[in-house]
Amino acid sequence: MERSVEALERDLKSVRKYYGSGKTKDASWRESQLKGLQNFIVEREEEIVRALKHDLGKHYVEAFRDEVGTLMKTLNLATKSLKKWMAAKEAKLPQIALLSSAELVPEPLGLVLIISSWNFPFGLSLEPLIGAVAAGNTVVLKPSEMSPSCSSLLATVLPTYLDNKAIKVIEGGPEVGELLLQQKWDKIFFTGSARVGRIVMSAAAVHLTPVTLELGGKCPALVDSLSFSWDREVAAKRILVAKFGACAGQACIAIDYILVEKGFSSNLVSLMKVWIKKMFGENPKESNTIARIVNKKQFMRLKNFLTEPKVKESVVVGGSMHENDLFIEPTILLDPPLDSEIMSEEIFGPVLPIITLDKIEDSVEFINSRPKPLAIYAFTKNQTLQRRLLSETSSGSLVFNDAILQYIADTLPFGGVGECGFGKYHGKFSFDLFSHHKAVARRSYFTDFWFRFPPWTLQKLQLLEVSYNLDYLGILLVILGLKRSKRSLS
Ligand code: NAD
Repeated sequence: MERSVEALERDLKSVRKYYGSGKTKDASWRESQLKGLQNFIVEREEEIVRALKHDLGKHYVEAFRDEVGTLMKTLNLATKSLKKWMAAKEAKLPQIALLSSAELVPEPLGLVLIISSWNFPFGLSLEPLIGAVAAGNTVVLKPSEMSPSCSSLLATVLPTYLDNKAIKVIEGGPEVGELLLQQKWDKIFFTGSARVGRIVMSAAAVHLTPVTLELGGKCPALVDSLSFSWDREVAAKRILVAKFGACAGQACIAIDYILVEKGFSSNLVSLMKVWIKKMFGENPKESNTIARIVNKKQFMRLKNFLTEPKVKESVVVGGSMHENDLFIEPTILLDPPLDSEIMSEEIFGPVLPIITLDKIEDSVEFINSRPKPLAIYAFTKNQTLQRRLLSETSSGSLVFNDAILQYIADTLPFGGVGECGFGKYHGKFSFDLFSHHKAVARRSYFTDFWFRFPPWTLQKLQLLEVSYNLDYLGILLVILGLKRSKRSLS
């Protein structure tokens, strides 16, 4: 697709016209696009995995776990559930609505724009695309320029599997993004930083376009001093794989920092040292099980965090950085200053600060004194603490005794609250996000209530009151003149 404004406008006009033909509303069209996506994932798995290796150094197993496999799962669900999702849902009316019925009918929004990020370049582009086509929309997808091999595969190969009159992939960076944002859309779905999220929202305001913002932030994990050594080991393993084993910590729901009780920190650090070796080898760089930092700019950002003297002093595990290879060893910090950049900015890399508190219960206050996170992870069996976290904290998701796993559960909506964004997707939530649930009501001509029509009388007012209260006996009594309201017309 050409990128001049005129060419873009021409293309979008033809996509809109195509949408107007009603073709994308057919279940058969939606099924064929889901099938196309399925074929793309299955037939091009090797190229997908290669692109992920090239752009991000992701291991094949990680690429399958986080992108290929999850997309297959989502496509299977969408294909299996499509007819059910598309069906109108009855809306129950009270008995007083005699000979009336109501339903919710999902309809597509029209032409939607999806702008995605680079850390899960296929997942973050195709998960929303699946929802958008299942809901019958036409779509323009702009992947991130920061994962160029993945973006190129999406722009050149994916369209050969899809209906190009309805679905376009446009490559480019901020300039292309801004060009796209000037256009009128029926929905914008954005994954990325809060800074660009603000640009997206301002542009959307011009056309009153609804937006979904999937942003980031600092996700805390609190780790209670679990009493059984088995539990401690499981917790340590789960933390390490969620931090270092998912795009090297470059994930919006990766653990950003850990809160522990004072006496437990050295025990946790020792455990993690052992398990880092077991999982990622004596020399993690050579084992190729940890992804690379996406580019030099991100590498330097992380390096700068770590070169702050007090932060550097706090390194207790790892710390080596290889600029040529954009590799940072799994690094653990113990009590870096709370006012350091690493503790105020989103880390988005394989560096894990541990902050010690007097008691683990203090983590509630610690978390609440910062912006609402996308996820909170709590490794604790303490039921009282679990209850407090549930009722006293707010976050996009809350997971007890594990991390990141909530992302793959189709029955859980994925999205933020507060500064980490708004709008929820995954599974049926994606279909709903890209649909308008139209309220449809049907009435018969046989029945009606005389008291809804002027001229107004006190009795009509009384009947309205008992009707809204669904007080059926009251209606009868008011009609018979046996019940009076305290209201008057004066
Ligand atoms: P980014 O905001 O720099 O870029 C995201 C997308 O926006 C890219 O496609 C980019 O080309 C485009 N873009 C950049 N400038 C633009 C502009 N001026 N106008 C229009 N489009 C523009 O973010 P990033 O570096 O890709 O991702 C990092 C951030 O995204 C982190 O904060 C991370 O937490 C967040 N993130 C969130 C999720 C989530 O699901 N919630 C997933 C991945 C990343």
